[in-house]
Amino acid sequence: MGQPPPSRADRPGPAEPHQRGSLDSLLSRSRFTQQLAELVGAEAEGHFAVMRCRFKEYERVSATLGGKAAEALIDEGARRLLNTIPRSASAARLSDSDLITVIPELIEAPRISSIAQRLIDLCAVPYRIDDQRRPLNVAIGIVISRGNYADLEAILSDASMAQRIASRHNQSQYRFIDLETRNQARRSYELEADFREALQQGLFLPFFQPIAELRSGEPVGFEVLARWPRPDGSFVTPDRFLPIARETALTGELDLQIIEKALLAVGDLAREVPWRSMLLSVNVSANLLEDSGLRERLLELIVESPLPPGWWLQVELIEEALQDTSSAFDTFLARLSELKVTIAIDDFGTGYSSLARLHSLPIDSFKIDKSFVDKIDDTEASSKKLLLTMGALASDLSLSSTVEGVETEAQRQWLLQSGFRTSQGYLFGRPLPLDEAVVELRRHNLRPPAIAAELDDEAQKDDAPRLGLRQRLRRRLRWLLG
Ligand code: C2E
Ligand code: CA
Ligand code: CA
Repeated sequence: MGQPPPSRADRPGPAEPHQRGSLDSLLSRSRFTQQLAELVGAEAEGHFAVMRCRFKEYERVSATLGGKAAEALIDEGARRLLNTIPRSASAARLSDSDLITVIPELIEAPRISSIAQRLIDLCAVPYRIDDQRRPLNVAIGIVISRGNYADLEAILSDASMAQRIASRHNQSQYRFIDLETRNQARRSYELEADFREALQQGLFLPFFQPIAELRSGEPVGFEVLARWPRPDGSFVTPDRFLPIARETALTGELDLQIIEKALLAVGDLAREVPWRSMLLSVNVSANLLEDSGLRERLLELIVESPLPPGWWLQVELIEEALQDTSSAFDTFLARLSELKVTIAIDDFGTGYSSLARLHSLPIDSFKIDKSFVDKIDDTEASSKKLLLTMGALASDLSLSSTVEGVETEAQRQWLLQSGFRTSQGYLFGRPLPLDEAVVELRRHNLRPPAIAAELDDEAQKDDAPRLGLRQRLRRRLRWLLG
């Protein structure tokens, strides 16, 4: 921006590769809005389409890698957008993470869909920066004007509403503004208000899903999963409220609320198995990791609420979190380690992990994503190969692994034969509220294995630095999880 805008003749057609494509090739925001206002006002020209495109990783990249990396991301987004839109279109930057384009005279939905889909396909190819491959997810809100918009604000607000609904999905999406989208947006605003209130009132609850030993099916710990109780006695699952939490940057607050309650509740579980070593595994969002205040509060919580004897805290981070190369992030992980908290990579295999980072950071465990397990029963073998590769990688790095989403006996058998030891899935138990998790644990009637006591003794011995703390943590975790 800041340079004279290019003439339309300089702009590429959809099929032409655009070499220069970058932020500098966009119109200034004021020039763009002026052009759009003219289109709205012009009787004959009131037919056009507007696409508002949010590059969803912008904020996270900005918070973790800094403004320069975030600008490189939006620059890449601009390049791909310019490679997608027809020559007649104009584009500009609307906000830090949002680009906008207007395509005159285009009102046929299928043609607009194919342009939006083409942008999504282009964005599906990760881009390279600092030797790393990064995702580029885009949420696109589309408005078609057939001369039915009286002012610019109404168009921008509709485009933003459609984009908001498109943003709700993890993957890139486009949405047209229509009655259904408007209704969804209205419900989504209501849900957001309810969510904020519930969070403020501390209504969210931890549910506990067993992490089980594959061979015996016995629980070796629990993952803590957030649930939102509703007045009718039902529980809302995270797929409905996490998008709102992310959009409002409140996932970190939610994490802390859930972790605090889980740390208080774990005593009830521990009473059922006073002799066992057990894992309590909690989810930590990118939002928490990026915020120094929230990170501090988590560390304080852990210090203030020690786990019962034999219990062990693990935090689960998604692979993308490792892209944060700031020293603050590394220090945070080191402080967790000092507090004897182990670190697991969640949904392993679905994101982008750098092997170097996996090696250099104090990572203890992988949680291998359910999507691989789903395909174990397929005749096509690539998922099995990937599972074996991830298992071997964990073993080479001396990490433990837990396979998620095991639902069938056939999956369990294959995993056992392939050397996996621990898993989590409906086959072993669904996420349960505390009282039911206690009953479930009691039902297993667990007895103390002799080796547990020995390992416990060793892990508790701080005055025997025969093994470093990290090694002792890992040894204990490997004993628990395999
Ligand atoms: P996740 O961390 O990968 O958690 C596992 C999810 O898979 C849970 O869904 C669990 O109920 C589900 N699951 C486990 N076994 C099976 C199975 O055999 N089959 C099927 N179909 N599903 C299974 P849930 O509880 O709906 O949570 C979804 C996601 O929401 C979690 O995925 C996690 O990423 C996020 N989440 C949940 N609670 C929290 C939280 O307190 N903080 C944060 N930051 N994220 C959370
Ligand atoms: Ca998890
Ligand atoms: Ca997972």
